[in-house]
Amino acid sequence: MSILDLFQLNGRVALVTGASSGLGVSAAEGLAEASADLVLVARRAEKLEATKAAVEALGRECVVVTGDVSDPETGTRAVEAGMEAFGRVDILVNNAGIGTAHPATREAPEDFEQVIDVNLNGSYFMAQACGRVMQPGSSIINISSILGFTTAGLPQSAYASSKAAVVAMARDLAVQWTGRKGIRVNAIAPGFFESEMTAQYPEGYIEKMMHRVPAGRKGKHEEFVAAVIFLASDAGGYCTGICLPVDGGMLTT
Ligand code: NAD
Repeated sequence: MSILDLFQLNGRVALVTGASSGLGVSAAEGLAEASADLVLVARRAEKLEATKAAVEALGRECVVVTGDVSDPETGTRAVEAGMEAFGRVDILVNNAGIGTAHPATREAPEDFEQVIDVNLNGSYFMAQACGRVMQPGSSIINISSILGFTTAGLPQSAYASSKAAVVAMARDLAVQWTGRKGIRVNAIAPGFFESEMTAQYPEGYIEKMMHRVPAGRKGKHEEFVAAVIFLASDAGGYCTGICLPVDGGMLTT
């Protein structure tokens, strides 16, 4: 076996949430390139179908489940769909997420709650549903953010709290499940990557942040996907409970 074989996902099934745009689409395509079959979850049916077509064009099988991850039923339905289509779910990428920027004194309770509902509660419900069926050798990856560890010029208490929390959740589930069930649980903290989410940032914001990024540029989607495949596959087989920054070095500054 060559070292590159460790990154192969032949015979495995990956469930990716938020697979209708941005990093979720790239992760789905990358996992398909590594030979996984896919279960895709998001709210926008038409966009999910486009990602499904891209996965199938790569020669892999794919089922889609439309739903809001903050509803625990969505996790249940997604896992049922994966079990029905493929008989297994090996990988979960908890990627669905929303971001807001509200000054704390003007933030409505429902705005704060919605971010926590999607980013934290949604990730937990999906992990619970997958953890019930996953077999030894499986892997869960929570997509956190550098904002779980630092601030970056915008008022983002809800988003930052949710992204710190999914790292803590990964650590706790790793301790609960790695030894007992053989499921590794990790997190990734991306820096700046172009997506629908970052398109909402104020004009020039990312450029203004670049002095804090030693690499001096935004990340490329394939650099994020490579980290996903590392943690999803046997290549990351001795990593559990960690958070891997993919941030051009921003957390060092
Ligand atoms: P994006 O907005 O393009 O993707 C987010 C996806 O999640 C979308 O497909 C959206 O429809 C889906 N989604 C949102 N709420 C949902 C819900 N309730 N139920 C189901 N699906 C839902 O943005 P992105 O940048 O690709 O974000 C992907 C993940 O990466 C997010 O968790 C985000 O917080 C994280 N992240 C992104 C960056 C970046 O620079 N792009 C940096 C750090 C972390």
